[in-house]
Amino acid sequence: MPRRATKIVATLGPASSDPALLEQMIRAGVNVVRLNFSKFAEGRVMLVPGQKFVLDAARVELGDIDAVGLDYKALPREVKAGDVLLLNDGLIVITVDAVRGEAVHTTVKLGGELSNNKGINKQGGGLTAPALTAKDMDDIRTAMSFQADYVAVSFPKSATDMEMARQLCNVAAAEFNHKPGLIAKIERAEAIPKLLEILLASDGIMVARGDLAVEVGNAIVPGLQKRMIKLAREHDRVVITATQMMESMITNPVPTRAEVSDVANAVLDGTDAVMLSAETAAGKYPLETVIEMAKICHAAEGHESVLLDADFTGKTFSRIDQSIAMGALFTAHHLGAKAIVAMTESGSTALWMSRHLVHVPIYALTAKVATQRRMTLYRNVRPLLMDSSTDRDTALTEAENHLKSRGIVQSGDIYAITCGEPMGSPGGTNMLKICQVS
Ligand code: PGA
Ligand code: MN
Repeated sequence: MPRRATKIVATLGPASSDPALLEQMIRAGVNVVRLNFSKFAEGRVMLVPGQKFVLDAARVELGDIDAVGLDYKALPREVKAGDVLLLNDGLIVITVDAVRGEAVHTTVKLGGELSNNKGINKQGGGLTAPALTAKDMDDIRTAMSFQADYVAVSFPKSATDMEMARQLCNVAAAEFNHKPGLIAKIERAEAIPKLLEILLASDGIMVARGDLAVEVGNAIVPGLQKRMIKLAREHDRVVITATQMMESMITNPVPTRAEVSDVANAVLDGTDAVMLSAETAAGKYPLETVIEMAKICHAAEGHESVLLDADFTGKTFSRIDQSIAMGALFTAHHLGAKAIVAMTESGSTALWMSRHLVHVPIYALTAKVATQRRMTLYRNVRPLLMDSSTDRDTALTEAENHLKSRGIVQSGDIYAITCGEPMGSPGGTNMLKICQVS
């Protein structure tokens, strides 16, 4: 399989729960899997245009064709007659006729299948739904019990939402001595003006195009996607581009040309990862989808022009480790090196390097499993586990042996390697060595 810099996130579900199939999907290119806690639906109803439908915050019994209960209890106080509400990523459109007590009476304009635990959006935004519900807190505890590497927070509207989520995650994960990375799903209209503060409170963002498009309108989303990816990279954060990337492959064995362009353009925008949702969770062709997506990413990467020098113009660095990381990148690129190797404790050097476009692959060697897993999302970074070593020369020799045994470098090849002396302290990178394999 050709080397690919862009990562693939696949949502798991009934279509991908067979371990043998999942293994094939991973071999075909899945780097990260997503467990979606909002999609354990049981019941479903078919809503048809023209019918009346009630959203009832006081209802406790399960939903039926006439009415459904609400997790979001404040809704009746936040909508009025004439408002347009969108359910299920905008597939279902209803208009509010009247609000009576806890019940929002509506007429269905655009019908479709509604299942449990689907999101609600108001056209134009303006819902005050808290980003974290009681159910989210339970889900965070569950995710931390198996030490999920990242937690993606749905619907944050401010940095405070992310800070709250981080505290909850850290408390829930403390018994495992684990700190997950936090991804903010940008999917509310209100998140757009607060993009920078949300980004800075997170380890990464998701361009959650499904819900976002419903709130701000489809046409604005491609521009926002470019802005979000650029901003994330400028601020050393990761970014995942999500939703409907290969949508037609839920039912067809080949993607549409428009989908191919969409995935390729996300790659050219500089996303770290592209995500599959229903395609791998509930589609007919989960494996074929991954194979196709990997091909598109690889082909798009071949068309990028590297403008690394421009990234550095007028730039200053306040940190030694960051300067070494940039020095390695610059030298490896201009020397035409085969590889860049970052020996890293926290993963920071690999993250900084991966924020710039170069065609030299970055191999991040770490003794920490948690760091290895977290770096899996970073574009153009291949994280590898190696034994911890306190002696620098031994570590350098071991690193080269690693590269040789994996066929990454051979006799005569040049690579750049960064490490810290003394070894093993996070943020301690202070050395760059350019090596030629003997
Ligand atoms: P979801 O998020 O798949 O969890 O809804 C992504 C999106 O809204 O696009
Ligand atoms: Mn969403």
